[in-house]
Amino acid sequence: GDFPIETDTLVIGAGPGGYVAAIRAAQLGQKVTIVEKGNLGGVCLNVGCIPSKALISASHRYENALESEEFGIKTEKVSLDFSKLQEWKGSVVKKLTSGVEGLLKGNKVEIVKGEAYFVDDHNIRVMDEKSAQTYTFKNAIIATGSHPIELPTFKFSDRVLDSTGALNLKERPGKLVVIGGGYVGTELGTAYANLGTEVTILEGADDILSGFEKQMTSIVKKGLKKKNVDVVTKAMAKGVEETKDGVKVTYEAGGKEETVEADYVLVTVGRKPNTSELGLEQVGVKLNDRGLIEVDKQCRTSVNNIYAIGDIVPGLPLAHKASYEGKIAAEAISGQPSEVDYIGMPAVVFSEPELATVGYTEQQAKDEGIDIKAAKFPFAANGRALSLNSTDGFMKLITRKEDGLVIGAQIAGTNASDVISELGLAIEAGMTAEDIAMTIHAHPTLGEITMEAAEVALGTPIHIM
Ligand code: FAD
Repeated sequence: GDFPIETDTLVIGAGPGGYVAAIRAAQLGQKVTIVEKGNLGGVCLNVGCIPSKALISASHRYENALESEEFGIKTEKVSLDFSKLQEWKGSVVKKLTSGVEGLLKGNKVEIVKGEAYFVDDHNIRVMDEKSAQTYTFKNAIIATGSHPIELPTFKFSDRVLDSTGALNLKERPGKLVVIGGGYVGTELGTAYANLGTEVTILEGADDILSGFEKQMTSIVKKGLKKKNVDVVTKAMAKGVEETKDGVKVTYEAGGKEETVEADYVLVTVGRKPNTSELGLEQVGVKLNDRGLIEVDKQCRTSVNNIYAIGDIVPGLPLAHKASYEGKIAAEAISGQPSEVDYIGMPAVVFSEPELATVGYTEQQAKDEGIDIKAAKFPFAANGRALSLNSTDGFMKLITRKEDGLVIGAQIAGTNASDVISELGLAIEAGMTAEDIAMTIHAHPTLGEITMEAAEVALGTPIHIM
């Protein structure tokens, strides 16, 4: 219809940023409308975090089943029904996305299907196949996320895949080339390698998983090698030729041009913010030179009543960051003094073993001239890690020398993704190494590694010399 519908807070995009912002705004008494052109849950729930982790955990099961003789377990015949695996993965996604729908409705958030663009700073237009509707808002939160970058020489197709394509394959590839050894490429490469695919990872830089320390990535590379994954660094992907039933990928490494044949090539070289089709210029929302929306500490854009969160604003493009910013923006709109502080924000790679980091690294502390102590404790000295048969890796606890304040931690090791939470809490709460060392940790658990690393910082570890 032509009559504008009025709302307090209008959220564009229902990913982990948008849906969380909508719920928090509703909890704070705002009348909330959320517009989504695709599926509730955004990239994370539909084609990102959740299905990738489901694929990874299913692939572990398969690999474990094949490799349990050491434990006295004989598996006579292990086989893979890939479409059944995909069906299960789909059911996990469905449970979560319908859960989000239930939560939005339960919080009386109005869900609108369609594509939104700004008419001015108080009106958006939503289009679906049949109609258009204007919504008038007091405040808006932009949470439109990002999409995979397409390389000009690797146009996406049935054989040249983005992450979504690689997650939704109908068959297990015999051979897969992955361009880009970031976390998405490493995680999906690992998952398919576990399922028996021959995997080659081509990385342009001199190491995979940029942003993580060499001591950590070398452990992941060792794990990939064990799975026969071929990791080629300093490899510049040049182009792809599609054959009848596969691809030929050419790349340059060590001054030589090489060709590798595969069933599919996954191109995962980064993501681009979805900011170009929103009519932002109409309202004067400022972008930086990378097309990201500039925001202040309350996630407010250059336009007073318009906020932006998640992958479309600067910072690490991660789901928990989007959700965190969503809460801050909703609270700011309600007049609360909430501001973002990323010091306790973790980043995780679901590789084998997993990598996790929070707060300062040794290098970052040095760069800022902070006098620190870096205390290391190996997984191999932890009973739980031994009983899990996962002893590769270490924790590094970064404390401030003058007072023992915990300012960072890095973990390479099994379940690092869960272990890191305690360190984030310690940083948030302003705890010292002594506080952690004095906390009783259940035995035998991986959490004891945190306690022992704190003891190392104090100079009194029990389980290493
Ligand atoms: P999105 O999740 O991208 O959601 C934006 C939504 O806005 C979409 O649903 C889109 O349809 C909608 N939209 C866009 N434009 C409009 C419009 N004009 N009108 C209406 N709707 C619109 N992060 C982690 O933290 N942990 C992980 O393990 C992890 N794994 C990942 C694995 C993969 C393979 C990928 C691709 C990503 C992964 N991520 C992970 C990143 C994570 O998915 C993103 O950081 C997160 O989804 C960003 O949330 P968002 O709310 O900003 O945007």
